[in-house]
Amino acid sequence: MHYTDLVKPELLAQPIYQPGKPIEDVARELGLDPDTVLKLASNENPMGASPQAIRAAKESLDSIQLYPDGGCFRLKQALSEKFGLSSEQFIVGNGSNEVLELLGHALIDKGDEVVMGKGAFIVYKLVTLLFGAVPVEVPMREYRHDLAAMAAAVNERTKIVFLASPNNPSGTHNEAADIVAFAESLPDHVVFVLDEAYAEYLDDAADLRPLIASGRRIFCTRTFSKIYGLAGLRIGYGYGASELVGLLNRAREPFNANSVAQAAACAALEDGEWVARCQAANAAGLAQLRAGFQALGLECIDSMANFLTVNVGDGLATFEALQREGVIVRPLAPYGMPEWARFTVGLEAENARALQALNSFLSSHVGHEESPSS
Ligand SMILES: *Cc1c(COP(=O)(O)O)cnc(C)c1O
Repeated sequence: MHYTDLVKPELLAQPIYQPGKPIEDVARELGLDPDTVLKLASNENPMGASPQAIRAAKESLDSIQLYPDGGCFRLKQALSEKFGLSSEQFIVGNGSNEVLELLGHALIDKGDEVVMGKGAFIVYKLVTLLFGAVPVEVPMREYRHDLAAMAAAVNERTKIVFLASPNNPSGTHNEAADIVAFAESLPDHVVFVLDEAYAEYLDDAADLRPLIASGRRIFCTRTFSKIYGLAGLRIGYGYGASELVGLLNRAREPFNANSVAQAAACAALEDGEWVARCQAANAAGLAQLRAGFQALGLECIDSMANFLTVNVGDGLATFEALQREGVIVRPLAPYGMPEWARFTVGLEAENARALQALNSFLSSHVGHEESPSS
């Protein structure tokens, strides 16, 4: 008898999530100095967290012998003021990934169908499979979620529709008005989950709060991992009807969000100036990378998020070659895009270094292919 005979069959069917490689791993494997390794693989904020958030995190260390506030009172209060919603409409998670999983715990049952884009953020599929439901993956149109096709995929078995806008890894987003119309078109037995992990990078992010207020079954998730630069602390949140949030709380582990993360998140929310600086730097970095890819004759999918996905011909070979130069990017074969790699926007010098490494790999590669065989 093996443990595989004992576990839930759903677990064995789970695809393995491949996270961006940690700097330490790459440095160890390749014998590089970790300080010289550049990670542009997980859409982290190259500017780091707000200095105020870091200060608040450090101060909170003085009381880490205490359990955190399981109800996240202060953070929910701050979110409530920021969004103009009541505190009871927010749930905080160990990253928004946990909030997505709580949706699975609370809502997804065997036999359910869950609609998502083919090429959407892979966690939707993982959560769906873990709870024994059927992922209905709707092909995208030019790497963007096809909302009409997704609406057509909804039936009486559909429990959740997941949409990320901007999506990861494609970087594409749907127009706010289209998202609102899509949300309004869904039947009452379907919960529409809008993943807003990169919403802070958009000028015109969809605002579904009026629809939530009107009783539509809508739930939105957000994170402190991206523009707020707190990925290492693991903190994210979701908002929707207080009734749904109350039910999600039943599935939640009592102390899921740690005290350091809560303190940092509260301070990060207060530092709007830092967010604005990160937004401006990201826009400049996107333009720099976009121009760099163009100069290399590479097609990239236009994105307003903090990353660009580019057709490098062979995503895995590019990933490996850049990694040897100490630059970690993300190959997209796991997303069915073997020709593509995803580059997170870094600081100006970091983007230049990544483009330089890409350029030398591509030119050596082309030179190699074109050299006459001897
Ligand atoms: C990064 C990301 C998240 C955030 O994950 P956390 O668990 O909050 O770190 C959620 N959704 C998408 C689409 C992402 O790219």
